[in-house]
Amino acid sequence: MAIPATVPLRNDLLDEEPYGAPQLDVPVCLNVNENPYEPSAAVIDSIVKRVRQIASTLNRYPDREHEQLRAALAEYLKKETGVDVPPSQVWAANGSNEIMLQLFQAFGGPGRTALSFAPTYSMYPEYARDTFTTWHMTSRKDDFTVDVDAGIAEIKRIQPSMVIITSPNNPTGTPIDVSDIERIVAACQHVSVADADESAHPIVVVDEAYAEFRRPGVTSAHTLLARYDNVAVSRTLSKAFAYAGARVGYIAASQGIIDALRIVRMPYHLSALTQVAALAALEHTDEQLSQVEHLRRTREDTAAWLAQQKYHGHELAVAPSDSNFILFGRFDNRHLVFEKLLQRGVLIREVGPDGYVRVCMGTDDEMNTFKRELTHVLHELD
Ligand code: PMP
Repeated sequence: MAIPATVPLRNDLLDEEPYGAPQLDVPVCLNVNENPYEPSAAVIDSIVKRVRQIASTLNRYPDREHEQLRAALAEYLKKETGVDVPPSQVWAANGSNEIMLQLFQAFGGPGRTALSFAPTYSMYPEYARDTFTTWHMTSRKDDFTVDVDAGIAEIKRIQPSMVIITSPNNPTGTPIDVSDIERIVAACQHVSVADADESAHPIVVVDEAYAEFRRPGVTSAHTLLARYDNVAVSRTLSKAFAYAGARVGYIAASQGIIDALRIVRMPYHLSALTQVAALAALEHTDEQLSQVEHLRRTREDTAAWLAQQKYHGHELAVAPSDSNFILFGRFDNRHLVFEKLLQRGVLIREVGPDGYVRVCMGTDDEMNTFKRELTHVLHELD
């Protein structure tokens, strides 16, 4: 993609490409961690009813503070995590992508650094770039877990304004124990932030986009909110909630963090249509989440199956996952695996450390096709 030199694009963006996993029309799409199950008839009825109710008000701007939605999200969080967060400490936007961008706009910026644990979600460096924030990665261990002591040492050295912990992580699926997150959060209380008031400490953003898929026993970072005002926990309706097309993400955090986001958000950033669509889904939480348990089982079965497959005489490496996707490898040429699967109508993702690919959990039929076609590809490559 060449942007003509006559268009005065920012110099630091001249060689950049737009983000995008391919959106291809193939029979089996397992590349962007969506939920494969469509909304139920009851949810669709509720969306239509609610949109009809507000359609005549579309000449007016929507509720800037999206208060009804924040209350519904707080109620959902209480149910899912057991943690009571007041609606004023919940904030929504167009996907957790927009939430993240707002965080960078408010807490990053020139002279500031955001730190995270590689490999992780590929969009963070783009938010950093777009907000002139320095992006700093510190490596995860070989098993993709966070080295907490090394991480804390790095935070003390770098003095970031933001630390981003993705749990479960994308693309590896790795969770981090909430006690380890708390160690990082507590350490941040003793770290000052370069280019900020000397009493300021780094904020710790826990990206829990895939949290509902976690295995039993993994606690949500929401449990830290009451004790620390530098924690923010972001979630989305795109994954477990099966609502990626509606573009709704949300965050729970201290009042100070939420009020900071209110400064940088666009006026009326969340359309009235989005707000009612989200309310319709939240009204049917149990139905929207009804396939989560099944997708968890699909993940366990698929991981066990993958671990038995051989590539050049070796068993595949399969990263233990708490998400709706699995990272596996290692291939000498992962692009070939990707291409050959695509030729057979199965789209996965080339992402993460060298030699690995990621597959998202689909319906039973889709997973059977994936397994059948991957078996063919592995034979061809042998
Ligand atoms: N965080 C992580 C870790 C993700 O993987 C994704 C989507 N792939 C997002 C945030 C953004 O999701 P959305 O904008 O749909 O809420």
